Amino acid sequence: MHSWTMGYVSVTPITDFLPTTIATVRLRHLDTINQVLHALISHEVDLFAVEVSWFSDPKECDAVIETATKHAIPVILLTRYVQSGISELTTLDPAEFLTKRYAPVSCVEFSPDVSHRGRIVSLSSRAIQLLAIFVTYPGQVLRLMDINQESQSRHVASWTTHSLKAAIHAITQELGTDHIKNVRGFGYIFQSCLVSTHRREDDRSVSEGMMGK
Ligand SMILES: [Zn+2]
Repeated sequence: MHSWTMGYVSVTPITDFLPTTIATVRLRHLDTINQVLHALISHEVDLFAVEVSWFSDPKECDAVIETATKHAIPVILLTRYVQSGISELTTLDPAEFLTKRYAPVSCVEFSPDVSHRGRIVSLSSRAIQLLAIFVTYPGQVLRLMDINQESQSRHVASWTTHSLKAAIHAITQELGTDHIKNVRGFGYIFQSCLVSTHRREDDRSVSEGMMGK
């Protein structure tokens, strides 16, 4: 089961540009130009976000965008003004980009509101943070450790067994019992109640119900 990964480089905290708490992609911070080029060439990332001021030399920025283009990896410019789309410049809202275009097809959506099958759900911001993580990894067993690792990359506070259970209880009350299952002694697994097997803007198949990566 494939989760979308967005690599990024930025001087400004990523949370200033993107709603990482409700992201439905996996976020991967990169530290050096070599890491960036390697991640693009080896397709470790599905899209790439850049804050241009991160580059000490503008030529490096050119090289990164050129490499990404060559490998058909969309680049998002982290700027408050213009967002770069897949092939055209557009005033795309980064929140919409992250939560719509790269979201797994799910009964839960995060933009413009948190909703389940079109009905707005009422959950605490903490429960929504957890729900976003589950929706990013449908059909995968997530251990407390995995959830905390993911939370860290999203700049979200970590979870205890107790706080996790409480949030899952709240989510279950809103969405119904058939969404988050406890895999005894191991972790939790989220399944969308929609059976669609294709992402909206791509025909790469996403098979639901598969465990593991
Ligand atoms: Zn559902």
